[in-house]
Amino acid sequence: MPVDATQPYDRDNIFAKILRGEIPSKTVFEDEWALAFHDIAPQAPIHILVIPKGEWVGWDDFSARASSDEISGFVRAVGQVAREFGLVEPGYRLLANLGGHGGQEVPHLHVHLFGGKPLGRMIAVLPTG
Ligand code: 5GP
Repeated sequence: MPVDATQPYDRDNIFAKILRGEIPSKTVFEDEWALAFHDIAPQAPIHILVIPKGEWVGWDDFSARASSDEISGFVRAVGQVAREFGLVEPGYRLLANLGGHGGQEVPHLHVHLFGGKPLGRMIAVLPTG
């Protein structure tokens, strides 16, 4: 069920459990600010999730209340993972699903990093109205 991104942070969400080491993940990067791991259901040859370590539901609370160090740490982690996977030259896609209309399923801010093949159009053309 899509997340209501206006709700308080839920410490029982699956990514919180991954951060606490209660659920295993295929970690590819970790530092003070962020953790990155392979998506359990990859939708591209490379499909990595990058999450900030802080308790942020989505972009709204993160952008409004996270410290500058947290924000820069998270953004730099995304860039570093892309570099480490050789994605800069061929290109890649970042995606954040946010809230109900965004189709967010896990209520801990995360960025999907897709790559490894040409990914086509950025988004499907949706019917209007
Ligand atoms: P979103 O919230 O942006 O819609 O997507 C959540 C993503 O988390 C999905 O792509 C899903 O496959 C992934 N995911 C859900 N549970 C787990 C898990 O336990 N481990 C990993 N590695 N990925 C998960």
